[in-house]
Amino acid sequence: MTILVLGGAGYIGSHTAYELIERGEDVVIVDNLETGYKEAVHPKARFYQGDIRNREFIDSVFDCEKIDAVIHFAANSLVGESMVKPLKYYDNNLCGTKVLLESMVEHKIDKIVFSSTAATYGEPERVPILETDRTMPTNPYGETKLSMEKMFHWTSMAHGLKYVSLRYFNACGAHKSGSIGEAHNPESHLIPLILQVPNGQREAISIFGDDYDTKDGTCVRDYIHVTDLAQAHILAVEYLMKGNESNIFNLGNGIGFTVQEVIEASRKVTGDPIKAVTVPRRAGDPAKLIASSEKAKSVLGWKPEHADLEEIIESAWRWHQSHPRGYAK
Ligand code: UDP
Repeated sequence: MTILVLGGAGYIGSHTAYELIERGEDVVIVDNLETGYKEAVHPKARFYQGDIRNREFIDSVFDCEKIDAVIHFAANSLVGESMVKPLKYYDNNLCGTKVLLESMVEHKIDKIVFSSTAATYGEPERVPILETDRTMPTNPYGETKLSMEKMFHWTSMAHGLKYVSLRYFNACGAHKSGSIGEAHNPESHLIPLILQVPNGQREAISIFGDDYDTKDGTCVRDYIHVTDLAQAHILAVEYLMKGNESNIFNLGNGIGFTVQEVIEASRKVTGDPIKAVTVPRRAGDPAKLIASSEKAKSVLGWKPEHADLEEIIESAWRWHQSHPRGYAK
């Protein structure tokens, strides 16, 4: 199979490209390198630098390559940034996907797997969250991802395209080789920020609120290893290749950890006392997000293999120790 990975120089995209190549698949990567890194592109992938909002560019990729399916990660993904720059999210996430779909329809490429998010649910009515639960995003990031899902739905009705939407919970960890990992600039995710303390780059980790209705007052999240997410994308491509219908799946471990528990596990893994200070809540953070991934398990046959929190943090720690400034030299 030849798979086009859009955003394959980013965090989850690069890990998915690595897994595809390890399985012997042919991989084409497109990335505008706005938030992705050239160093994260697998050396065996054919790489095209460009933007999916550029119709001529994306047409030229489909003209040159014989693509069997697309995996689409090319989007902006920071909740906080989306609150202050909503139109950037509408432009890149929605306009980019519109141009992509027009080009796919014209080139008769009819299978796509794409990154959605737990942020499509907003404040959940209950946990664990099912795919059929209410979707009411509380930020433009989640809103644009939900709109992307709807754009795929209506395009599939009109043009026969088939899609799988994967709603991730908290992606974390790094590739076993230690050669690719999480690198955001600025970093806003909990585990990389915690590990900046033992790495000597930050004095303390801030805990955003300890007065939530949870067992220790800090927010609960479902942390899922990036390699397990990558495997789910491959299973979703296979699912579409077999001729199955469009579908939506949650991806998480189904286990929630509080911010305090993640800090404690990081102390164990690194052997560092990791100073923590409590600060006010961050706007827009739901108290508890935990996935039910039963559907992905039963329909796709997905089985997360790195569910242990300490193992996840160990893999992240290997990456951050060896790449304290991410991909920067
Ligand atoms: N968090 C925190 N301190 C930080 C960064 C994050 O307490 O410096 C908390 C945040 O409030 C949330 C959890 O850690 O409850 C995970 O946040 P992250 O930004 O990693 O992912 P999100 O859940 O927003 O997708």
